[in-house]
Amino acid sequence: MAHPLSICSSCNSLNKYERTKVKTAVCGKCGNPLNLKAAVTQVSTEGFRRILGKTSDLVVVDFWASWCGPCQVYGPEFEKASLINEGTFLKVNTESEHLLSQELGIRGIPCTVFFKNGKEVQRQSGAMSADQLSTILRSL
Ligand SMILES: [Zn+2]
Repeated sequence: MAHPLSICSSCNSLNKYERTKVKTAVCGKCGNPLNLKAAVTQVSTEGFRRILGKTSDLVVVDFWASWCGPCQVYGPEFEKASLINEGTFLKVNTESEHLLSQELGIRGIPCTVFFKNGKEVQRQSGAMSADQLSTILRSL
């Protein structure tokens, strides 16, 4: 199975890592730890586009905001699911990346958008449990 992708928050390099070794994953270029929460990377619009352009595999993106209560509930569930499912798991902050959110027509948050071959294949509004998210992931 393909390794998930992350972007180094220190040097902005694209990295592959092993899901089973997220705690010790370091950047192949600068050697700093990859800034992963479980197997989730917070990305900018540029990082989001780079990763989508780089992989044909599943990319799962949680669009969220710091003021959104349900997003805080969903965050840990999204992280839990990231450790037990295939795919690259990303978070996009809809406040700092509002143009991207607008472009993708993100209205309510949290909103989880699923991409394959760089194209959206499904989206789900609202908070979910890790189990609910895993069920969707297995159906894709
Ligand atoms: Zn780096």
